[in-house]
Amino acid sequence: VRLLRLALLGFKSFADPVELVFDRGITAIVGPNGSGKSNLAEAIAWVLGEQAGSAVRSRRADDVIFAGGPDRPSLGMAEVTLTLEQDGDELGVPFREVSVTRRVFRDGETQYLINGSRARLRDVLRIAAILRADWIITRQGSVDDVLEQRPAERRHYLEHAAGLSALRLRQAEARQQLAEAEQHAQRLDDLLRELE
Ligand code: ATP
Repeated sequence: VRLLRLALLGFKSFADPVELVFDRGITAIVGPNGSGKSNLAEAIAWVLGEQAGSAVRSRRADDVIFAGGPDRPSLGMAEVTLTLEQDGDELGVPFREVSVTRRVFRDGETQYLINGSRARLRDVLRIAAILRADWIITRQGSVDDVLEQRPAERRHYLEHAAGLSALRLRQAEARQQLAEAEQHAQRLDDLLRELE
């Protein structure tokens, strides 16, 4: 599953509509302190159903709505859309491009959409869980946590980040199959010897 686009409207510091397009390869987002880089990572966590207070730095549901600036009034709604691309149907949705939208209004009402149709939080959380097997969102400060981990934990984390955990799983399965095949071969050898 690949990340294609992230569109924001009224989310935190993004009063004007913004769309980020992620090409293949590495995308780096640079900007001065307070320009909203962390807010972008939070937008990804938020659209995937993260609740206020946890990964999203806000106390109330409507804290993520643009609160107004020196020469701009506050807005009434925040909306984030994350567009993904899948090769098969890993995400459990029959589209190559899958877009997930979350909106929140000032009264706290929240809506979720998948490819433009109203969806339930649990539908979005199901997609988020599938992505979580592949993705890691690392926030400021959590780099220190990684450095303080014991070597085995750190290795596990880095392998997960590099997409190695899935390969390790396949390696373990292949080893298991090999061991079983060797057992079968041994049993056949024994049978042949008895028949001779
Ligand atoms: P740093 O490197 O300092 O963390 P950053 O580029 O990651 O900077 P963010 O932390 O993403 O910046 O952005 C913080 C900015 O977003 C602050 O200026 C804050 O006032 C603004 N902000 C957060 N929530 C809202 C909101 N609801 N309405 C308007 N602005 C907001």
